[in-house]
Amino acid sequence: MNKQVQLRLNTDWMEKMQQPFIIAGPCSAETEEQVLQTAREIAAIPGVTVFRAGIWKPRTRPKDFAGVGQIGLQWLRTVKAETGLKVAIEVANAHHVYEALKFGVDVLWIGARTTVSPFAVQEVADALRGVDVPVWVKNPINPDIDLWIGAMERLNQAGITRLGAIHRGFSTYEKTVYRNAPRWEIPIELKRRLPDLPLICDPSHISGKREFIADLSQTAFDLAMDGLMIESHMNPEQALSDAAQQLLPADLAGLLEQLAFRSNRSAEGEGQAFLEVMRRQIDFLDHELLEVLSRRSKLVDRIGRFKKRNNMTILQVRRWEQLLENRLEQARQIGLDEAFVRQFYQTIHQYSIRIQSNVMNAPENGPAHTGKTNRKNVQSKVG
Ligand code: PEP
Ligand code: MN
Repeated sequence: MNKQVQLRLNTDWMEKMQQPFIIAGPCSAETEEQVLQTAREIAAIPGVTVFRAGIWKPRTRPKDFAGVGQIGLQWLRTVKAETGLKVAIEVANAHHVYEALKFGVDVLWIGARTTVSPFAVQEVADALRGVDVPVWVKNPINPDIDLWIGAMERLNQAGITRLGAIHRGFSTYEKTVYRNAPRWEIPIELKRRLPDLPLICDPSHISGKREFIADLSQTAFDLAMDGLMIESHMNPEQALSDAAQQLLPADLAGLLEQLAFRSNRSAEGEGQAFLEVMRRQIDFLDHELLEVLSRRSKLVDRIGRFKKRNNMTILQVRRWEQLLENRLEQARQIGLDEAFVRQFYQTIHQYSIRIQSNVMNAPENGPAHTGKTNRKNVQSKVG
């Protein structure tokens, strides 16, 4: 629970930031007409302050649409002048940075495929040295929070203090309903380590499909995220990239209207007293929960010793099946979510196996076992 990180952030910028902070626009700039028409419709939506459009697209396959390049920056300059929206693009190298700054782009973001590469991030950071521009950093494709934080540290060390993070989900080999797994625990951990860093969610790239965007956006707000980056296109079906996940500006307007943005401030007066009573009860229950888990682990340890004496395997599949079935039945009866209880018991079971394998592999009359990996024992076994 350590790993505190220090970033030097511009507090003035954070305080003045619109709440919630909404960035919207097409995945890619495609034509002047598409950019301008989409921007006009988005400018009419209350709450949207920044217009996004990809100019150079990092595509998985080379046959895919790779963006219009520099000409799109001229269209964005028109968007700014005509609508008053600020404009944002993705930058992945020094050339992108110079072009963006030359054309007066207001906000930059680093894409998920760039955040994974410390060389690329360092190149962008070096190109930004001495420039005061807001930069939002998407999480890396893989679920590595240190890589995400490292990218922000590189920018911060180059003098970027208007810094924010974008949660866009994580790539998985298995196909799931979402294009990218949200892994909400990761942005939550980022918030714990960097409580002052603005954090917004990109439900478009998590979902991959329009129909999931509303739910994901609400979850992001419920988890105290500060805003959203959402893809919106005047004609999503015809979009040259990410067609299935873009929203019509009218649908984006409807979505933003229906979302409940919950205040991140602490409650006052009676509300505060209520929260404190509830939190004390939760603290008490958590204390009990850990005590129970500790007692359970001690029993597991004793069983491990018994199995060792009797030369039995650690894993007893029948017992594990029955246990899980029994606990799931109880979960159903008391109204606990079955998937949650299954996952919970899988974690507990893995821990039990670890405790018992330490017992099994310990020298005779060895020390009591904690479930931590016991290097000495592993060495004595192979040595
Ligand atoms: C994008 O924003 O269009 C994009 C390519 O996103 P990501 O970097 O999250 O994949
Ligand atoms: Mn996209």
